[in-house]
Amino acid sequence: MKIYIDGNYYSKEQAKISVFDHGLLYGDGIFEGIRIYNKHVFKLKEHLLRLYKSAKAINLNIPLTIEEMEKTVNEVVRINKKEDGYIRLIITRGRGDLGIDPGKCLAPSVIIIASDIELYPKEYYTNGIKIITSSLRRLPADGLDPRIKSLNYLNNILAKIEAKNSGCLEAVMLNKQGFVTECTGDNIFIIKDQEIITPQLCEGILDGITRQTIFEFGKQLGMLVRQSRLSQYDLYNADECFLTGSGAEIIPVVEIDGRKVGNGKPGNWTKTLIKIFNEKKY
Ligand code: PMP
Repeated sequence: MKIYIDGNYYSKEQAKISVFDHGLLYGDGIFEGIRIYNKHVFKLKEHLLRLYKSAKAINLNIPLTIEEMEKTVNEVVRINKKEDGYIRLIITRGRGDLGIDPGKCLAPSVIIIASDIELYPKEYYTNGIKIITSSLRRLPADGLDPRIKSLNYLNNILAKIEAKNSGCLEAVMLNKQGFVTECTGDNIFIIKDQEIITPQLCEGILDGITRQTIFEFGKQLGMLVRQSRLSQYDLYNADECFLTGSGAEIIPVVEIDGRKVGNGKPGNWTKTLIKIFNEKKY
């Protein structure tokens, strides 16, 4: 494995960053998780657009232009001879001192890792997963906008711990007003009366790239895909439910807080969407 750090390639053992990097000290940085399918980087432009928007939002200047970054990511995939896999693209604030001041950081660091990921064991894609509602609220956009894909994932990690402690693999998080936002690393969708529904961005969620593909697929299926306010009641009474993410892809949800979703099995529309995704991703 050859890992890219600031223009150089290192082996897995030699790839290191400073303990003074504010990405480590304060979670001061941003990232993207991107899939590689058949040597092709899936939705790379969309991921890079989001990365540069995250950078703008945290007042960080990425030292490469978006075109240079696109070339570099493709180069990392080529050098690693990756056919299928997963890229982690990280920009940290860089090396500073022990104070929080980002102005004291020398320069942002760019790290690109081309590896693999399996978020959920394979059988869950056919059987579906059980989720809980986390007792922790998703961070409000007036505190830290969840549209920023930052290196600060503690809010999500604490909800993930809660899910695992309850014997589930994922947790859905509500916002301050009690409306559904997203899961710890995935966006959430329900299907009700032939409509595909997902929370609006203004509820405080990441603008997921896989989420965007569901809008395209819905159109192809002649189904309405709607963004709407959702409560726990809507989740419990959904016909179908599924989660989307670059790592997770599309995974059916069959139980929420002990309530069966539909008949407790992955729904037919969800299965169709998974099938379309698996055909289109190549
Ligand atoms: N929400 C959160 C909190 C995430 O971290 C992610 C990415 N893992 C998603 C949603 C899904 O986004 P995408 O489809 O762009 O991977």
